[in-house]
Amino acid sequence: MTILQDYTQQELTDYLTAEYGIKPFVAVQIYQWLTKATDFDGMTNISKNLRERLSADCVAVAAKIVKTLTSQLDGTKKFLFRLSDGNVAEGVLMSYKYGNTLCVSTQVGCRMGCKFCASTIGGLIRNLSAGEILGQVLAVNALGNGKERYVTNIVLMGSGEPLDNFDNVVKFLRLVSASEGINISLRNVSLSTCGIVPNIRKLADMNLPVNLTLSLHNPFNDQRKEIMPVSRAYSVEEAIDACKYFFERTGRRIIIEYTLIDGQNDSYSHALKLASLLRGMSVHVNVIALNPVKETGLKGTSERVLRQFLQYLDKLGVSATRRRTMGQDIEGACGQLRRRYLEGRDDN
Ligand code: SAH
Repeated sequence: MTILQDYTQQELTDYLTAEYGIKPFVAVQIYQWLTKATDFDGMTNISKNLRERLSADCVAVAAKIVKTLTSQLDGTKKFLFRLSDGNVAEGVLMSYKYGNTLCVSTQVGCRMGCKFCASTIGGLIRNLSAGEILGQVLAVNALGNGKERYVTNIVLMGSGEPLDNFDNVVKFLRLVSASEGINISLRNVSLSTCGIVPNIRKLADMNLPVNLTLSLHNPFNDQRKEIMPVSRAYSVEEAIDACKYFFERTGRRIIIEYTLIDGQNDSYSHALKLASLLRGMSVHVNVIALNPVKETGLKGTSERVLRQFLQYLDKLGVSATRRRTMGQDIEGACGQLRRRYLEGRDDN
């Protein structure tokens, strides 16, 4: 099956005119339906005959919302998307004063093996195509009223490691920011990585004004290796250097993600080392307490220690804020909903 949301408008036009002998303007009409996440049967200005021919070998909606959970605490919505081969991916929509941020997945599962993360349990199943990543955005955006933009910001922080699916993620960035498509500025898109250093540098050289987030979680190499196997390949210093390079090339401030795990990375010495690593950088640290995942046995840092850690960073001159924990009642952390679904616990 050909996933039509994988294509730019031009690519779609080339493909459909060559394969189906249709006029370019009809391809453009189809492209417009695709950006609204409309399936073939809803494409009312397209002939029935063409729709039938297309649906025999093409997929119009790459990610279909099959389940929505809404947090009673803060209105955060969690979506389960079904992909055309039956796999599932998940996304989270968080509402802020300035708009709605959608967190999307880049892979089914993940092979990075971070000890605290639910997405990696069961390993990597497969990469998502560019259109499957975009499809999550289009499906959720279609829930809006169609007048103003519903999804205003995107974070690649769902399941998967974006820089382990480099080409598809870069293609996604081009698709999502295309002026004839949904046209979301890359300044409103954040890519979060566990630190695949060569690909951070490669991305920097592409000059895409996307925000880069590094999931650091521990400034000491020996300890970071224990919770994040990627650290065996690339040291903390190499990852930070790559972030500095990214800033030099793009001018975009770096965000450091720091998840506090009880007794593991929340002491003064961690704050001190973190401050020395980040000295002189244009950087902001997002601190969050670990969202407990039952399979991992790890605990989040207490409220008191979290506040203390933030105070340490403040005194050490590091710009840091606590990232609000959202959707805790709906298994908001990466990969938790998909796991529940796979385990057959998905009963509400
Ligand atoms: N692979 C990418 C993006 C996906 S994870 C990355 O590593 O950045 C998005 C963020 O959520 C990462 O910072 C990740 O470390 C963090 N995370 C994963 N599981 C978590 C949990 N149970 N509690 C809190 N943060 C978690």
